[in-house]
Amino acid sequence: MSAASAEHLGELQAYAASVAGCTRCRLSQGRTQVVFGSGNQHADLMFVGEAPGFHEDKQGVPFVGQAGKLLEGLLNGIGLRREDVYVANVLKCRPPGNRDPQPDEIEACEVHLFRQIHLIQPTVIATLGNFATKLLSGRPTGITRVHGQVQPSTIAGRHLLLYPLYHPAAALYTPAMLKVLESDFARLPELLGRAHELAAPVAAPATEPEPELALAAAGPAEQLGLF
Ligand code: URA
Repeated sequence: MSAASAEHLGELQAYAASVAGCTRCRLSQGRTQVVFGSGNQHADLMFVGEAPGFHEDKQGVPFVGQAGKLLEGLLNGIGLRREDVYVANVLKCRPPGNRDPQPDEIEACEVHLFRQIHLIQPTVIATLGNFATKLLSGRPTGITRVHGQVQPSTIAGRHLLLYPLYHPAAALYTPAMLKVLESDFARLPELLGRAHELAAPVAAPATEPEPELALAAAGPAEQLGLF
């Protein structure tokens, strides 16, 4: 790509182009292509899954298989389309046979995800499953315990709400899990509204501020325990 045409790409697209040839880990050897991410580059809501599977590796787009169809249905159920949100994964390359991501692969790849978050600046990140939840929360607690629990966080220099959800692939064949995923999803519109409020600059109050907003103005989001 020439320097002139790179200038005309957004920063995120330019970064995606630079990642297309990534060789930071062994997964580069078996992939068809890097699956960087897709959707609205200015989305308030970002989803982070695990890793590309067979279809994602072929098409270069995350969540295009069965789990992707379920994700799309869940989004439609709360009045959103895929084009409204941004979707990415912890790993940008398909692990062989869709095995679990390995710790050194996550460590090699996380720079790409953090850069994406920094550039997209979402107000809510919904993590899908254990790998994304553990990476972005920085905690070892598994998804069964933390799903549906909002965690005010600072990630890639950005105050936002982290919202762990079950992975759609896990819910595909487990009706009880699907019910939980649907009810966790149903809270997303309210969270987006709340995150927007907290992200807005807080003007000097003429009267006593609402306790929540006063806290929001007071310091880093993680220390607030708002939820
Ligand atoms: N497809 C993806 O892109 N990511 C997942 O985590 C699962 C399926």
